[in-house]
Amino acid sequence: MKIKVARHMGLCFGVKDAIQLAEETAKTGPVTIFGPLAHNPSIKNRLLEQGIEFTEQHQHARTDTLIVTAHGTSDRMRQEINEAGFDVKDATCPLVHFAHRSLKKLVSDGYYPVIIGKEDHIEVRGLTGDLDAYTVVSQASDIDQLPPAERMGIISQTTQPIDHVESLVEYIKAKFPESEIRFTDTVCHPTKQRQKSAIELGQQSDVVIVIGGRTSNNTRQLSRTVSRFCDRVYQIEKVEDLNRNWFESADAVGITAGTSTPDEVIQPVIEQLRLWDNAECPASVRMETQAKVMAD
Ligand code: SF4
Repeated sequence: MKIKVARHMGLCFGVKDAIQLAEETAKTGPVTIFGPLAHNPSIKNRLLEQGIEFTEQHQHARTDTLIVTAHGTSDRMRQEINEAGFDVKDATCPLVHFAHRSLKKLVSDGYYPVIIGKEDHIEVRGLTGDLDAYTVVSQASDIDQLPPAERMGIISQTTQPIDHVESLVEYIKAKFPESEIRFTDTVCHPTKQRQKSAIELGQQSDVVIVIGGRTSNNTRQLSRTVSRFCDRVYQIEKVEDLNRNWFESADAVGITAGTSTPDEVIQPVIEQLRLWDNAECPASVRMETQAKVMAD
């Protein structure tokens, strides 16, 4: 059995930087992370073990220092937490800042803002938090509810699959031929790389394992993307979720992981598959398991 590991997978630089900021800040005193830093229980547990607290509402924070996560927040909320007296550390990813700037530009140029993404996702709440009027769409049926506007400006949540985003943009253009539509591509580069690698993995594998938190949007999106090319796709959170039966008669097994999945969760999965492979094949016919890095 060949084990193929996607070239681009796992933690992105934005989440890595945010974790580093939280850990360094925690060494200097008590700190609370405002909202989910990464949608992964292993990362959350690691930070909790260091005494770092989490809160969804800043009013409940018990520390003087508050960290805004990589997903960012609205200017209104930023002002609110500053006025509440917190020492605010900002881990907003620069690519989320780009999405905020792009949205502001569209609005100031007179376009009705349309955001492609999940309305309840922390990043989307941050993007829409300063707007009085906007629409969030996640699928074609949402577009049927869009109010007609002379000018529409579209951006997307940074972790949406770019082909999904582009197809919704085309749908909006077709549905509102009279409107002037301006689209700014705010899907982040790490997400695009991971999606592209996942497609290659799906095309070349009999079974694909997608590793990531159950509440991780980008992990779910990866699973969906791979499922278009491979019938046997399993999303797991940790090595204990693996089921040996999934790999029956599989020659090639692909592994990928969401942008919030750390290496310490990915490596045990690779090791377990190697163990099962070696145990199953008689020494005479055993093929050496390869962790083949796929071409980008
Ligand atoms: S997924 Fe993209 S936008 Fe979000 S933190 Fe990572 S690099 Fe930044």
